[in-house]
Order: sequence, then structure tokens, then C-alpha cells
Amino acid sequence: MKTLIKKVDAEFPENSLTIFETAAKIINSGGLVAFPTETVYGLGANALDSNAVKKIYAAKGRPSDNPLIVHISDISELYPIVSYISDKALKLIDAFWPGPLTLIFNKTDIIPYETSGGLNTVAIRFPSNKTAQLLIKQAAVPIAAPSANSSGKPSPTRASHVEFDLNGKIDMIIDGGGSKFGLESTIIDVSSEIPCILRPGSITKKMIEDVIGNVEIDSAVIKENTMPKAPGMKYKHYSPLANVTIVSGDIENTVKKINSLAFKSVSKNINTAIIATTQTENQYKYGTILVAGDRNKPETIAKNLFKILRKCDYLNIKEVYSESFDSDGIETAIMNRLKKAAGNNIIYV
Ligand code: AMP
Ligand code: MG
Repeated sequence: MKTLIKKVDAEFPENSLTIFETAAKIINSGGLVAFPTETVYGLGANALDSNAVKKIYAAKGRPSDNPLIVHISDISELYPIVSYISDKALKLIDAFWPGPLTLIFNKTDIIPYETSGGLNTVAIRFPSNKTAQLLIKQAAVPIAAPSANSSGKPSPTRASHVEFDLNGKIDMIIDGGGSKFGLESTIIDVSSEIPCILRPGSITKKMIEDVIGNVEIDSAVIKENTMPKAPGMKYKHYSPLANVTIVSGDIENTVKKINSLAFKSVSKNINTAIIATTQTENQYKYGTILVAGDRNKPETIAKNLFKILRKCDYLNIKEVYSESFDSDGIETAIMNRLKKAAGNNIIYV
């Protein structure tokens, strides 16, 4: 299959209407279109067409019990696909949609089990990215879209990442520039009485609690070796080909430990990289230094993390040592992804 790749202006995608007409035709005839969102790039299919949705799992190599997020472009599109919306859900919708928050509801029969991974609930998101909104509007169907990477790889935050993983396997890629947030959406289950965060993201627990009061957080997000409630969270994920080790502790001891580990690794002629921050980059002496961002602006680290993990593969890195980000804002989401990339390989100093 030849993959059509088309660029649109992220600010003014409406100037490329013919591209959206082509993409909508592909979606409506059961094909796959990768498109930008504010979180990461998604791989879209008609969420109501079970055959189209099956193609997503095949292209990504995704396990069939891992449900997809359904994307809508207007709140009115929610009512036909979910059976009940609680008051707390309405408040969250009001506060955070369109934006990087996914809500889990009980589904209606028009959502096929292929989309919900066999569950009676369905995950829904209304993205704020203009290109994503325009595609959904033009296709006039809800679009099921997981991250547009090969299963297990870091999520794509630019069109070139999607091309690297899926060229020749999908019908089209819409290139709308780099992702604004760079981490997948926060997922919160609002299908039962007490809302529960299943995946941390850029919308933090504190931001949610400011709107609806106390919420739970799935213990698997924090504790190792616990079965997560979001089926997809149990899979090894986000991994570069290299061995990843996180070093956790105060900054001074972290830098010392990483320098010592990197020295040993480089001495054995192992291609080594360090994931550093603007605060520490000048203190490292060995290997390739990759700056994730500024500790005082953790959203910069969120935005760059997947790009850096992918860069390790492109540079043929075999050993990665990363600093740790231990704070309870967006750092919870950063650490959740980093720990998965490291297979929970952490050294405490
Ligand atoms: P991705 O779109 O690749 O970010 O993956 C979607 C994530 O949402 C996976 O971790 C899924 O397990 C999770 N998810 C989707 N639908 C549901 C659902 N109905 N219940 C729980 N988790 C879900
Ligand atoms: Mg994914």
C-alpha cells in the first residue's frame, strides 16, 4: 500500500480543504488516516465500523483487548454513543473539553466491541487540535484513534515518527506539525460513582480535583507489579531498543551516579546516552547528552520525552541513563511513561 502524506498548516488547516475531503473519503470507506492531535499523533478509523477498526490493530500490531479512544468534534456527538453522563462527567467536560482529557462512559450498542476492546465502556475525547477537529467534522463519524505508532514504541509526536513506523501500512498521514503536549491524554473513568484516573497526563489530579473534588488514581499508575484498570497500561511501552535505567535521588547524587555508570558503559565501547535537563546538561562528561527540557517547566520535558526516546533508536544507542522527575504535577505522567520505557529499572541513590 502506498501511504499518502499531506502537509497542512497547524494554525489554518481550513486552507487545505481538499486534503480533508480526501482523508474523510478514506475514513468513510473503511481506511486508516493518521492525524495530529494536541497530545500525540492518532491512527484514525471510523469508530462505528468494526472492519475498519480491526485494521488499526493489524497496522499497529496492537493486542485486540486494548481498547481505542473515540474522538469527537462536538459535545452533541457524545449522546448517541454513551448511555449515561454523570454530573461529575458534565463538569469535567465543561472544564477540559476540547482538550487532553479522555473520559470513560458506559457505551451504547452502536459502538462495536472491536472499538471498546470487548468492554461495555468506551473512552471518548474531544481534541482541541484544529486539524483533528476538521477531519472528524469532514468525515461526520466519530473516529477511533490510538497513538499512531507500532505497538510498544514511543508514541509519535510528529508526522515523521508515524512515517517511520507505519509507512506502507496505512492509507494516509496528515502532517500538522509537532504535538503541543507530547504525552497521551489523561484518562479518567466516570462510568462509576467515584471517578478514577487510569492514566496520568497533562491534566493533573489536582486540576481535576479542583473541579469535582476527590478522585481516585488507579494504584497501578504508582505501584509496580499491580494490574492496571486500563487494559493498555499493562503492556511494555514507549521503549527504545536500548536498555533504559532511571536514576532517582537528589540531583547532586543523581549526576554523580549517572557519570559513573556512563563512564563504565562508554569504556566498554557501548553506545551510551544520558537523558538530562537544562539544569544538569553541563555536568555530564560521557556519552551523548540528550536534554529533555527544563525542570522548572516540566511541560517542556513532557513535550520532548518521546522524541528523545525515538532519537535513541535513530542514533543506535544501546544504554540510556535518565534522571528522574519526582513531583506530583505533570511529572507523574512523565515518570509513568519513563518507567514503562525502562521496564521499571530504577536505581535509587
Ligand atoms: P492509546 O490510544 O494508544 O493512548 O491507548 C488508549 C488507552 O486507553 C489504553 O491504555 C486503553 O487501555 C485505554 N482505554 C480505552 N478504552 C478504555 C476503557 N473502556 N476502559 C479502560 N481503559 C480504556
Ligand atoms: Mg498508545
